[in-house]
Amino acid sequence: MVRVGVIGLQGDVNEHIEATRKALENLGVAGEVVWLRKPEQLEGISAIIIPGGESTTISQLIVKTGLLKPVKRLGEEGLPIMGTCAGLIMLSKEVIGATPEQRFLELLDVRVNRNAYGRQVDSFEAPIKLAFSDDSFPGVFIRAPRIVELLSERVKPIAWLGDRVVGVEQDNLIGLEFHPELTDDMGVHEYFLKKIL
Ligand code: GLN
Repeated sequence: MVRVGVIGLQGDVNEHIEATRKALENLGVAGEVVWLRKPEQLEGISAIIIPGGESTTISQLIVKTGLLKPVKRLGEEGLPIMGTCAGLIMLSKEVIGATPEQRFLELLDVRVNRNAYGRQVDSFEAPIKLAFSDDSFPGVFIRAPRIVELLSERVKPIAWLGDRVVGVEQDNLIGLEFHPELTDDMGVHEYFLKKIL
């Protein structure tokens, strides 16, 4: 039985828990999805999701709860981890516009600009192209960070908005600018969960 943890410190945690449950069901996999707040809950975990929200707050709480170091170690050891929006920021090696106090997992070889879309285009929805599907996927962008550079050959684009890369994969890691948990299409969650199976 698989056990997926959604880091539940701040942000759209419930939506990710629901989406992950549905995706497991679609895949016909028995599993539980847990609201992850303490390092003790990492015992026996099969995969981790870091939701969107506010990366300054998530950063502060991930340090305070003692989750930062063990989650980073698990990511380095190959545990599947997916970060969406603020979660992508948390996974990134380099962050433009970070506050001096912000700490990151620094696992994913990308440079992101934290508040790249700015105020004018705070939020929008647009069809995106996924590497693993012929159908377009509804991309929900909310004050999204922007992937401005891929820093190594290990990191591969898996999602595009026009010709811009908005999602990447690096072995066990997935980082997305958009929010797949806010749509009815579980395709991205299913793709991520296949990393455990
Ligand atoms: N730009 C936000 C941040 O820095 C992320 C926005 C989001 O997750 N919706 O945390």
